Amino acid sequence: MPPPFWGAIDAAHTFCEPKYATSTVVAEFFNALSSFVYMAAGAAMLCRGCHWKVGAGYAMLIVVGVGSVLFHATMRFTMELCDEVPMLLLIIAFLLGKEDCLDCLSGPAGRRRFRVGSAVAVALSTAAYIHFKVYQIFVISFTLMVLFLIATHFFPSARRRWTPALQTCFARAVGGIGAGKLVWEAEQRLCAAHPGVWPLHIAWHVLSCIGGVYATKYNEELRAIVAIEGTKEAGREPRRSPRLVGAHTKRH
Ligand SMILES: [Zn+2]
Repeated sequence: MPPPFWGAIDAAHTFCEPKYATSTVVAEFFNALSSFVYMAAGAAMLCRGCHWKVGAGYAMLIVVGVGSVLFHATMRFTMELCDEVPMLLLIIAFLLGKEDCLDCLSGPAGRRRFRVGSAVAVALSTAAYIHFKVYQIFVISFTLMVLFLIATHFFPSARRRWTPALQTCFARAVGGIGAGKLVWEAEQRLCAAHPGVWPLHIAWHVLSCIGGVYATKYNEELRAIVAIEGTKEAGREPRRSPRLVGAHTKRH
């Protein structure tokens, strides 16, 4: 039997799809093919035009798609890193989209704290993953970041901006990643006894992509709400300021 096209499989984690069964060049053919959904969705959303901090989320979806194709096509550890490190950066991009909207991510100090903190967190997690080559390091890092991202919806500066549109984006984002996580786990746990479940990983790609798109649309919505608040504030300022200043001066 000839050696695999991309060399011996050395990924820290593999999936259920039979290797090199559909193509002699692509290890997991359908998992690789379905990864194009991230690129298509990211590109389609970017083409609509948006603030660069929102666009970073759509751009990272494209990067994740490229990494996912490379990983599933080769099942080599180096290509696995090209998939999984961008997944961590994707969550950072989702948080970047909330800059100047959430109190803890606002102002020069807040932005600096977030950017330095997230860069250090991703660097440490990646270094530990490469050194120990333990898949759980990536899974735990990614899960914690997703949970933090979800928690930001309940921060006071987000809560006071809850609108039906924002809540819909949140529900669809959490629904997408939540349903995706369920089919991901099902594929992993059922694979040994029922190898035919391998297409469930394709469902993970589609569902997590939907979650990613709505996580970014959430930021678009949040930024629009903050922009409207800023416009109203600026409109009120000239009329209100002299009276307030006067009242303040008289009282004290
Ligand atoms: Zn995948």
